Amino acid sequence: MSEVPYFVDLQTATDIACATPLHLNTEFVSLDAAHGRVVSEDIASNVNDPPFDNSAMDGFAFLQSDSLEPPTTLSIIQTLQAGDHQTTQPLGRHQATRIMTGAPMPPGADSILPIELCQVSEDGTEVTLLEQGRPHFIRKKGENLVAGDVAITQGTTLTPAKIGLCATMGWPQVPVFQQAKIAIISTGDELKFPGEELKPHEIYESNSFGLAGLVEWMGHKAVRYPAVADSMDALRKLLDQASAECDLVLTSGGVSMGDWDFVRKIMEEEGDIHFWRVKIRPGSPPLFGLWKNTPLFGLPGNPASSHVVFRMLVTPYLRASMLGGGPRPMRLQVQLAENLRGDAKCLALRRITIDTSGKHPLAYSTGSQGSGNLNSMATADGLTLLHPGQPSNKGDWCEAILL
Ligand code: AMP
Ligand code: MG
Repeated sequence: MSEVPYFVDLQTATDIACATPLHLNTEFVSLDAAHGRVVSEDIASNVNDPPFDNSAMDGFAFLQSDSLEPPTTLSIIQTLQAGDHQTTQPLGRHQATRIMTGAPMPPGADSILPIELCQVSEDGTEVTLLEQGRPHFIRKKGENLVAGDVAITQGTTLTPAKIGLCATMGWPQVPVFQQAKIAIISTGDELKFPGEELKPHEIYESNSFGLAGLVEWMGHKAVRYPAVADSMDALRKLLDQASAECDLVLTSGGVSMGDWDFVRKIMEEEGDIHFWRVKIRPGSPPLFGLWKNTPLFGLPGNPASSHVVFRMLVTPYLRASMLGGGPRPMRLQVQLAENLRGDAKCLALRRITIDTSGKHPLAYSTGSQGSGNLNSMATADGLTLLHPGQPSNKGDWCEAILL
């Protein structure tokens, strides 16, 4: 173990893990299935947006020079609506075209007046413009995008607006990173499937369910294996299976210093550890390494810790594997509404609720911060990022990460 980086800060741990990223291939998905996926290649527009000059308003199109001294009466020569295939007549002086939003501008016209500012004669042959024309109500060909413009770069997470933009650019399917298959293995003799009868000193297994949710929230596929007993042979067998079936393995439990901490032991003896222990609280026990060439995070067993470590370590790793894509953790400055416990050596990630109803965001503890207390994780809006030694009394400010 001597040369393995030990008890490293969070940035060092992240950098070490990110040096062994996942290699995710590209697949094409339809726009209907693209929400939340991460684009793996730049996407350039196939068309100009808009493809032709068109009206931004329902109203009339005419020559601006005909409208300079309102009211002005012009004769109506045609009506154009969006998608009309008819050939449009060029406009002459003192002529107007009735035009709908999205309809092509008739040649010769250089101005629009919305319908509310126009009066049409009873026989429908003439229009009186009550004000001057508005040239800016013409949407010019290519004013948003020119064909060939790269509007979405690789590593972008597809939001609803970006999916719409892909359609605007003429892409029915888009290249995205394939979802990783991520194995989740809980370890511990004391763990029972929720709802089963508990024998003395047993508890319900919760980490794999929480971690599976986090994996899916990151846009990947969770493969939850049944909890494994604390035995080297059982663990070896399951690690072999999971590393063959999946791209990444997450274990929980068994990475501390205890005699039954077999994940650490088996990784030391038969795997390849890249770091062990990180300066964060809660969540200092994790390790990262390779099991038979498959990257593996050994997460702590304590339920709040396993969540925190996923958020702080596995999330940046998965984002780095997708060129920065995936849900982006939002940070904000909060003022502490009560005293929180900092830490002399570690980044203190206290679970907080954040009240944004007043002048500043105020942070309150979610209660007991024990690393086994999942209830205080479930009610949290965020985690503090209290650096070692940073003051953390009522009234102090600190950065927080939103959950
Ligand atoms: P360990 O890291 O294996 O020593 O586990 C630390 C604590 O977390 C112990 O109290 C375990 O019972 C608990 N724990 C470990 N794994 C899980 C799990 N999958 N679900 C719920 N609690 C767990
Ligand atoms: Mg254990």
